[in-house]
Amino acid sequence: MPHNVKTLGVLGAGQMGGGIAQVAAVAGLTVKVFDSFPGTIDKCKGVHIKSLGKLVEKAKITKDAADAASARISFVDNLENLTGCDWLVEAVVEDVNVKKDLLAKLAAMYPDESVVLATNTSSISITELATAAGKGAHRVVGMHFFNPVPLMQLVEVIPGLQTSPEVVQRTLALATAMGKTPLEASDRAGFISNRVLMPMINEAFYAWMEGVAKPEAIDGIMKLGCNFPMGPLTLADFIGLDTCVNIMNVLADGLNSDRYRACPLLKQLVSAGRMGVKSGRGVYEYPGK
Ligand code: NAD
Repeated sequence: MPHNVKTLGVLGAGQMGGGIAQVAAVAGLTVKVFDSFPGTIDKCKGVHIKSLGKLVEKAKITKDAADAASARISFVDNLENLTGCDWLVEAVVEDVNVKKDLLAKLAAMYPDESVVLATNTSSISITELATAAGKGAHRVVGMHFFNPVPLMQLVEVIPGLQTSPEVVQRTLALATAMGKTPLEASDRAGFISNRVLMPMINEAFYAWMEGVAKPEAIDGIMKLGCNFPMGPLTLADFIGLDTCVNIMNVLADGLNSDRYRACPLLKQLVSAGRMGVKSGRGVYEYPGK
């Protein structure tokens, strides 16, 4: 089934929204990006220039293709100006109320129900988010890109209970047209990616807490023994230790099991302000951040 998308609207110009916009523009779509916070749009433009420049340096695309992709992306700082899109993907902050409020506004702004309302949430229930679209709940779908979007191949496609099979097929087609590999997962807490990844990261914190090995050894063993590009504790620092705790809480609540409770040491580091790379210190230190 064709995706039938010419103009993609992206809500949120942060790490993920910016990456989604770039990948879509390189794939030939016209892209309109909305962000309501001052400074984020300029920052996003800067990231695009740098990121597209790197692709040209590595000969992944030509300079002409990069310039054409840049020219296909425009920005608005007022939601009312996000008009003329035939697919919307939201990548705003991971907050259920913010996302529901936005989806309700989008459903009202775009009464044509062929316009899909996709969400890049990493943990919130698609079924719950879809309720914000009222009778348009069938056009809400999880379209979970991975960070950094230009480099990561996977898009996890998550239908909510209300999502129509046609919307799922179109989502698979759009992700493929954007050069990604889409794989489907059901709407259960953490979907597949975080349900499998986060307990492993949590277990690495338990191993450290219990003194089974030092962080460098835990990471080294998992890197060399499992052929991971980085160890689980390093990865946790990149994701953000606070985010790891939040996702574990979502798993514990959503899957109704104590086996997903966040490790006490992980929670303690967060309480001490050690959030990972973004705060300059997590498991490891990141001077200058
Ligand atoms: P981010 O903080 O980098 O970006 C969020 C952006 O949303 C910011 O630019 C902010 O200004 C904007 N924003 C907030 N509220 C808004 C609103 N009401 N309207 C418009 N813009 C608004 O966050 P991110 O890492 O890009 O994450 C965005 C989403 O993607 C979240 O749902 C997150 O769970 C998901 N996600 C993140 C990752 C990751 O590794 N960072 C991976 C997959 C999915």
